[in-house]
This record gives sequence, C-alpha cells and structure tokens, in this order.
Amino acid sequence: MRGGHPTPASNPAATAARPPAVVVGGGISGLIAARELAAAGSAVTVLEASSAWGGCVGSHVVAGLHLDSGAESFATRSSAVADLARELGLADRIVAPHPGGAWVQLPDGPQELPKTGVLGIPANAWDPEVRRSLGLAGAIRASFDRWLPASVGTSSDVTSVSALVRTRMGKRVLERLVSPVVGGVHSADPALLDVDMVAPGLRAGIRAHGSLAAAVAAQRKGASSSSGASSGPAKAGSAVAGLKGGMNTLVDALVADLRERGVQLLTDRRASDVVKTRQGWRVTAGDSQYDAGRLVVALDGPAAVGLLEKSLPELSGLRPAPGPLVSLVTMVVDLPQLDDRPRGTGILVAPETPGIKAKALTHATAKWDWLAGEAGPGTHVLRLSYGRREEAGGGADVVMDDESLLASALEDASALLTVPVSRADIVDWDVVRWAGALPFAAVGHKQRVAQARQVCAAADRLTVVGGWLAGNGLAAVVADTRTQLASLRTDGSPIL
Ligand SMILES: Cc1cc2nc3c(=O)[nH]c(=O)nc-3n(C[C@H](O)[C@H](O)[C@H](O)COP(=O)(O)OP(=O)(O)OC[C@H]3O[C@@H](n4cnc5c(N)ncnc54)[C@H](O)[C@@H]3O)c2cc1C
Repeated sequence: MRGGHPTPASNPAATAARPPAVVVGGGISGLIAARELAAAGSAVTVLEASSAWGGCVGSHVVAGLHLDSGAESFATRSSAVADLARELGLADRIVAPHPGGAWVQLPDGPQELPKTGVLGIPANAWDPEVRRSLGLAGAIRASFDRWLPASVGTSSDVTSVSALVRTRMGKRVLERLVSPVVGGVHSADPALLDVDMVAPGLRAGIRAHGSLAAAVAAQRKGASSSSGASSGPAKAGSAVAGLKGGMNTLVDALVADLRERGVQLLTDRRASDVVKTRQGWRVTAGDSQYDAGRLVVALDGPAAVGLLEKSLPELSGLRPAPGPLVSLVTMVVDLPQLDDRPRGTGILVAPETPGIKAKALTHATAKWDWLAGEAGPGTHVLRLSYGRREEAGGGADVVMDDESLLASALEDASALLTVPVSRADIVDWDVVRWAGALPFAAVGHKQRVAQARQVCAAADRLTVVGGWLAGNGLAAVVADTRTQLASLRTDGSPIL
C-alpha cells in the first residue's frame, strides 16, 4: 500500500508524521487530484460532504436501470477524458452516441440541430440543415462572418457568447441555434456567459483561421480525431462520447484506483473551516480536524471561496455568483412508439418556445445503444431538465415539487416527442436536483478566475481546482485538474 493511512490531527501520532495531502471535495476534480498526488508518492485523504463520490457525475437506479443522474457524456474536443478512461482500464467502454443527432424546438416548430456546430455555432452557414434552420436571410447574414476581419468579435469589449455570435453571424444564429444549446448545457442565457469560459479557444481560433465558422470547423476536426469512441471514428454529429454503463462508471473506476493506491476516502465529512498552520493547513470537518501538508480545494466556486476567504481575504471579492438550480426528471416508460426515435437523441428548447417549461429532453435510450439494450424492446428512458438562468440577478430557478415536475415532464415530453406520454406508461421515475453545481461563468469570469488563481498560487501548499476555474464540463475539468497538479511535480519528489 502506497503512502499509508493518514489519521486525524486529534490523534497525537499523526502530528509526528509528515502530514498527508488533504483533498476537500470528492467530485471528479477532487478524485483526479487525489490520484495525481498519490501517484507522486504523497499520502492522501479525501473529504467528501455527501455520502457518494463523483459530485455532478452521479448515478441513480430507476426501474432497475443504473443511470447517470448528472453528467452523461463528455466533449471530445480534446482527448482528456478518453485518456483518463483508458488509464483506468475503460478503453473498450468508450462509445459514440447514436448518429441520429439532436433536434431543437423553436417557437415555429422543431428542426434538426445541425451536426457540425460548437455550442450551436455552425461551421458552414450553407450546410442544408443550417440553411433550413436560419432561412435564406439568416444564412446570408451568417455567411458575412467569412468576410469580416478576424479582429471583429475578438476584441476585449466582446465578452459574452451572444455578443460574439451576434456580431459575427447575426441574431438568427444566436436565437435559433446557440441559445437553445447554451441553455441546455449551461442553464443560462448566452448574453450572461463569458465566451472564453464556455467556448474556450474559439476566439483564438478566429484569429488563427480567419472566421468564426472556420474556428468551429477546426475544433470539430480536432474532436473527431480525439473522441476515443470504440464504435468507429466519431461521426460528424458526435462532439461528445460516453461510457458503456454511464459516466458514473468513471467514478467507480477512479475510486477503485484510489483505494488500490492507499488513499483514505472519507464520505459524510463536510469541511467547515480551514486555517493555515506552520506545516501547511488544518481542515475541520464535523468533530475531526485533519492536518494537511498540502491542501487541495475541489469544490464549487462559492463554497471554495467561503472556505478559504478567512485565510485569503483577497478571494472574497472574487466569489462567483452561485449557479442555477437544475431539476432533472427521469422517466422510464413502456412506449414502443418511441422506438422510432422521433426526435433523434433528444431535443433542446429555444427559450421563447410557448407552452414548454423544460429546457431540454434527452431520449437516453435513443442516444446510447448500450442503454437501449439494457432497457429492452419498447422501454425508454427520457430525461427532462428544468431551470434556466435568464437574468443576471438570478432568474428562473425551478422550485416545483416532485409531483408538479412530473406533471410538467409528461406534458412537455408529449409535446416535444409528438407521442402522448401518460402516467400509465411510466414504469418508474425520479427527480434529481442539482443546486448551484453548474458554475455560472458570468461575463468577466475568466478574468476573475485568473485573479483567483493568482491569489491561491501565492498561498503556500494550496491548490484549488474544479469547474468554476476550469470551465463547465468534464473535458475542461479533467484536463485542468491534471495540469494544475502536474505543475507541482517539479523534481519527482512527493508533492507537498
Ligand atoms: C445536471 C448536470 C449535468 C451535467 N452534464 C454534463 C455532461 O453531460 N457532460 C459534461 O462534460 N459535463 C456535464 N456536467 C458538468 C460536469 O459534471 C462538471 O463540470 C464536473 O463534474 C464538475 O466537477 P467538480 O469536481 O469541479 O465539482 P463537483 O462535481 O460539484 O464536486 C464537488 C464535490 O464537493 C463536495 N463538497 C461540497 N462542499 C463540500 C465541503 N464543504 N466539504 C467537502 N466536500 C464538499 C460536493 O458534495 C461534491 O461532491 C453536468 C453537470 C450537472 C450538474
């Protein structure tokens, strides 16, 4: 066993030994940080507030099916997640989604979502699917992008996703393609989101390739070559991949790996305080205190700042706004009419669409063949998400009770799939609420992140990781966490 088991500081034996590294937060960033530390020879303890590992990469059982309750895929714009999965022995479980692609529900009806975009931004305004969605005038306006100088949309005054898209491609691309995708992924209006956080590399791509469309095409090309999906090369539509058995199997594999490395994994330990000590840091969780030779804080932004601001008061002014409340309704239904995948792998809903409360519906059994196989013929898994932040000050957080959410989900699913879905069709259902788990990357976030990183880097023996710094999504979080930890390994000695 590597490193041995560290013990709480209240045990006198612990104070004599070199204090272990302590990771606060057992989401994907905390688990990866623990793995990197253990691999570098450090003794490691991970403190997780809840009773489960993985944070947003959660799971639940509905109608006997083991399903993802949070993240269910990963972006293939880099090989970060696929590489990690391979290291953990999951290479043969990486799968591409069904190539059917997704749809978007617009106020004037449903349209197929173009398969070659990034965040809904098209790589080619004259692609037939894009042209259909935008109309002739919209496609002409979008193609102006090609003739605009690369400086348009890349200056420092263009900071939101909507400002970039509107300036280069016009309002119709924004409203009909980008808003529904951004709403589905980030639960927020693109006018509120920092473009460099939610579309990393796009503005640099405009400078390198001359237009937004060309930047998108270049990112998509990179995605196809790094997807890692075992079912052949990534299709044009698959900017994402998944794992057979669900993304939660990545967490199971990470936890098993950490146990093998001798990492001490403690659930139901909410860190409530950290203070600087001579040897590093002291963390209080419940009745116990843990001395840390290195402290890794792997929490959401507001929680991370809350924990550290007493020791690092400069962080207080950099606290990010809390993320929205997202409620997911998962229904397992016996409904063979859905075998035809009426809306492909799912449908995103444009914000102004009348009569629909959901922001997205994932037809999980149409998206993932492995899940369709597990569910069996005629049985389908539908996941509807609610909650979209539309105002800078907060907005449409969903506080409906479970029964009301189910009623909305039945109505919305029937309208979106054009197949009546009733209570009688339901085998089982569940509601999962994610409060503040999605980072809210408000305009200016990238700059605040840079400042927060500086403040933390100046503090001795402290590393801060997680989606609020890396950007939302597993691809960003996995890559950034590894980079942050690797930067500590200077001379091959244990990281402390
Ligand atoms: C509903 C939903 C769907 C998503 N879908 C996708 C997707 O399909 N693809 C994708 O790439 N990304 C998706 N994401 C985003 C992705 O899951 C996250 O970016 C990523 O998992 C964040 O990891 P993290 O470690 O930074 O944070 P978290 O997962 O939030 O982990 C933080 C952990 O810290 C714990 N904690 C909090 N406070 C304390 C404390 N005081 N002491 C100890 N522990 C504490 C929490 O319980 C949690 O386990 C989704 C997110 C959500 C919410």
